[in-house]
Amino acid sequence: MARYTMKFGGTSVGSPEAIERVVNIVRDHLAQGHELAVVVSAMAGVTDMLLDSAAAAASGVKEPYLAINAVIGDMHLAVIDALMDAGPARDAIRRTVAELLDQHRELCEAVSILGEATPRISDALVSFGERLSSRVVTAVMAAEGLPAKQFDSNRYIITDNDFQNADPLWEETETRITAGLLPEMQAGITPVITGFIGATPDGTLTTLGRGGSDFSAAIFAACLGSDELIIWTDVDGVMTTDPRLDERARVLPYVSYQEIGELAFYGAKVLHPKTVQPIINRDIPLRVRNTFNPSEAGTLVGSRPQTSETVIKAVTGIRDVSMLTVSGPGMLGVPGIAGRTFLATAGAGANILMISQASSEQSFCFTVVDPLAQHVKAAVERELQREILHNDIDSVEVLSEIVIITVVGSGMRGTPGVAGRVFSLLGEHRINVLAIAQGSSECSISFIVAEDDLERAVGELHTLALETVENDCVNGLASPY
Ligand code: ADP
Ligand code: ASP
Ligand code: MG
Repeated sequence: MARYTMKFGGTSVGSPEAIERVVNIVRDHLAQGHELAVVVSAMAGVTDMLLDSAAAAASGVKEPYLAINAVIGDMHLAVIDALMDAGPARDAIRRTVAELLDQHRELCEAVSILGEATPRISDALVSFGERLSSRVVTAVMAAEGLPAKQFDSNRYIITDNDFQNADPLWEETETRITAGLLPEMQAGITPVITGFIGATPDGTLTTLGRGGSDFSAAIFAACLGSDELIIWTDVDGVMTTDPRLDERARVLPYVSYQEIGELAFYGAKVLHPKTVQPIINRDIPLRVRNTFNPSEAGTLVGSRPQTSETVIKAVTGIRDVSMLTVSGPGMLGVPGIAGRTFLATAGAGANILMISQASSEQSFCFTVVDPLAQHVKAAVERELQREILHNDIDSVEVLSEIVIITVVGSGMRGTPGVAGRVFSLLGEHRINVLAIAQGSSECSISFIVAEDDLERAVGELHTLALETVENDCVNGLASPY
């Protein structure tokens, strides 16, 4: 018997057929005697719709948020009607859905009177997605005779008040989860928990950032002492690249925590970048599996690095970024320019995705997401006002319509020639590289190319990753576990 935490993503709970599959997966694991905690996302598309409803309400137009409210209602009722027989249980869950939708509409009305949707209100509004899906999934499971019980994670995941991107307060979170959920599980209950949502210590709803249900599930896995975390999604595992970018993408049977951390940070949407944080120290294995193809083993993620002979295992690309360059003839003489630039960037609320410095130290560049680029430029120019006035530094330049491409594979630093292979391949295909950085975890190299070159660059480099998978197969390189 093992204790698993399982998370089902948006597509996995996105239709009656998908939820039927979820029920079967849970039933199979319970039948094998395992203890389960289940974390669910909102039905596919619902979080986006809820954000649209917030925007519509803030701009004072009623029709769009009423229409969204109705569509979301229909989606959940369609699941209930398809998967539950008529009777008191079905009536009860239909009423619950209607009540939550009434609350959503009332909150939209309040936003339209206020005329703005603050991050705090936005979090309260998007929380309806997971609150609805978890209740509907629980009702369906219970109707099928499974011992499921719904839980709202805002009672367990206690966070700071960084709305839309909250981080857990670990001690309080662990205390609440072990006191509140462990006894239920030990009594044979299968908790079905909302992903994505937390609350500040005073009970105000927060969310953990887009795609954050993966992170929620990892938090529960860690605090419940799970033997394994299983992320059920709509692809067969972590792949050599996004299958939507290149259909040749293949599943990687094994990657390390470090490798998946780099992949997720640099754009592989399959996992939220913070997913491994809670489980890394406890060495809880993570598996990524396909709800729609459960006979496949998926990808195992664990602590042991495994270096392939040809090193490069996967390629990612991030769009919608801008590169800022700080340069000037007097840079060498003025200490602390980089430090002050990065502090000003953090002050402007932007995360730096990549930093690169020219060896002459006459300039350095860094990358942030597009919507914040001009705001960061203004903040950095304010900070460096004096140096700019003295012509020690030129103004800060912003370059848009670029992408970050990252190649990932453990053992990159210790294996000579990896960067050489990458950049000569790009050179052969006349793809111009604008900046380069090597990840601190020693398993990634990132660089910037023009947005128009994204598909070509990923395609060419992906061929190297496919060669590695092929090679590992031939060499019989199995998982290190
Ligand atoms: P979920 O709703 O289950 O959380 P997501 O849409 O968030 O699913 O993530 C799964 C998607 O991530 C896949 O459908 C795939 O298109 C995309 N993806 C991007 N990069 C990768 C990769 N390297 N491996 C697998 N999937 C990837
Ligand atoms: N429903 C949330 C989102 O779409 C969280 C998640 O699915 O992980 O971002
Ligand atoms: Mg996701």
